[in-house]
Amino acid sequence: MKNQRNIFFLENNFILLIKKVNNFIYLRSSYTDLILKKTCLMKYTSQQQRTLFDLSKQLLSEGTRTTEELAKIQIQSLHETIIYHDWRYYILNDAVLTDFEYDSLYKKLEALEAKYPNLKTADSPTQRVSSDLSEDSPRVEHLTPMLSLGNSYNAEDLNDFDAQIRKLAMIEEGVEIEYVVEPKFDGGSLALVYENDLLARAATRGDGQKGEEMTANARSMKSVPLRAGFSKYGIRKVELRGEAVIRRDRFDKMNEDREAQGLNLFANPRNTAAGGLRTKDANETGKRHIEAFVYQLGYATNEAGENVLDKLTTHYKSIEMLSNLGFKIPQKETKLCKNIQEVIDWTLGWEAKREGYPYEIDGMVIKVNSLAIQERCGYTSHHPRWAIAFKFKAKQATTKLLNIEYQIGKIGSLTPVAKVEPVELAGVTIGSISLHNADFISDKDIRLGDTVLIERAGDVIPYIAKSLPELRDGSEKVVKFPTNCPSCTTALERAEGEAAWRCPNYNCEAQVLQRMIFHVSKPAMNIDGMGKSIVEKFHELGWLKFLPDIYNLDYEKIAVQEGFGKRSAANLQKSIEKAKQNPIKRLLHSLSVHHLGKKVSSLLAAEVEHILDLAH
Ligand SMILES: [Zn+2]
Repeated sequence: MKNQRNIFFLENNFILLIKKVNNFIYLRSSYTDLILKKTCLMKYTSQQQRTLFDLSKQLLSEGTRTTEELAKIQIQSLHETIIYHDWRYYILNDAVLTDFEYDSLYKKLEALEAKYPNLKTADSPTQRVSSDLSEDSPRVEHLTPMLSLGNSYNAEDLNDFDAQIRKLAMIEEGVEIEYVVEPKFDGGSLALVYENDLLARAATRGDGQKGEEMTANARSMKSVPLRAGFSKYGIRKVELRGEAVIRRDRFDKMNEDREAQGLNLFANPRNTAAGGLRTKDANETGKRHIEAFVYQLGYATNEAGENVLDKLTTHYKSIEMLSNLGFKIPQKETKLCKNIQEVIDWTLGWEAKREGYPYEIDGMVIKVNSLAIQERCGYTSHHPRWAIAFKFKAKQATTKLLNIEYQIGKIGSLTPVAKVEPVELAGVTIGSISLHNADFISDKDIRLGDTVLIERAGDVIPYIAKSLPELRDGSEKVVKFPTNCPSCTTALERAEGEAAWRCPNYNCEAQVLQRMIFHVSKPAMNIDGMGKSIVEKFHELGWLKFLPDIYNLDYEKIAVQEGFGKRSAANLQKSIEKAKQNPIKRLLHSLSVHHLGKKVSSLLAAEVEHILDLAH
């Protein structure tokens, strides 16, 4: 019964035990037994809830206070909001914050308490014994333990691994051993149990023996089949291992949307996927575009309960079967290798091209293909002896922060960009990195002249993980975030609950330019042959002062411009004329109105038949 929740807490000095079964809440106190409906137990009025919700958003957007007096007020607010969200989460089973946001609030409180220990009180949410949210989920035992893997780092390690397999399985020199090499996804591990062809249970890896049950979340993931015909293969009950991941481009898009809505950004695809498995809201799992790759059959029994795993004879065959049954497997990336040299070539080849891969991978996994040889190799208590992980080189580097430049976006948001001493990271030279917003700089205490640690934790976009204050020599300067727009000097504003400072001047030149660049781009009006550099050039020439100028260009003048000609000017004219036929929703979206994203534009466009309808 997945709705069941037990909570103990102290209120007015008596102990309550609350148990939630379906929509009923059983409440037991030291005085009496009661059965209440959910609605009878509203601890907060809707007005109080709105206030607490707004307060939470405000807390999420602000940095931690730096004087004791202000910290005290902030701690009090954090107490109130966290207790409220615990109630939504545990009692109503209906969270209004994402796990990520909740964790951010919790971490803020922890940070403040660490800084001002005398402000830590016994009733602080951080002092609750059962503060680990995961304890709330039922634990389930895996049918077979999910073990870790031994690690290797270079070709020599892989040759040693091959020699070891030879010894364990008593295979002579000269007889080649087949291996299967697969990508090692960096996400959240999960185990899926199917019984009588139906998805019966899903769980996180947990400690390897027991994981958190999360069947509802798995059901919301479209890549997890609810039904799979294992019975065709004589299998009644089966346990699969897999990894939940989010594609990089989908992750970036999700963060773009969050940024546009003024929400906190997800840190990276891995945490977002792993967190999505464990969230209490299955819809949230679905929204995160999590995909599950399946890579191992851990357990399989027939009607009589007998182990039928070895009937498949090789690992590769078991993966083929899973693919045939509709599971997502990394087909193109998986290679059946004839010998260890092929393994080495394939693995090193992947290390070189990992950046272009749509998913985060931190290495490759090498498995002995023959299940009979696997069995002869056996296991240590920690990992199977017949498999090994090959870890790609770390993607971290330190460099010096030289300067910060400020860029104005299309809706006026000011983005600080760090200019760093050029440094090579995983094959790419990095000279500038986004610092996102003012809070990012103050939260991480990043100062001009600091040595900073840069990471590409799978993310395509590098980011500053932290500054290294222990390397400061006193010449570093605290960053003074501008108070005025660097383009038009208007005083910057920050809306409540938003992380970004914005230039409120709609006619700000820098903003207008960014809006025009977006307007012509693919996701907006999609004007072929008119990219960023052409917009910038025409803007410089004074031809594009405002957005409508795009539709009033003088093509004769363009034709005589360097790099153009009659034909390309005519082509541009054609593209622009074609763009005029775009549906209204595209036009709305292309105007870069704050909060008017793709979705809202579509909704709005559905309500209007003519562009003039929008005037009302
Ligand atoms: Zn401005």
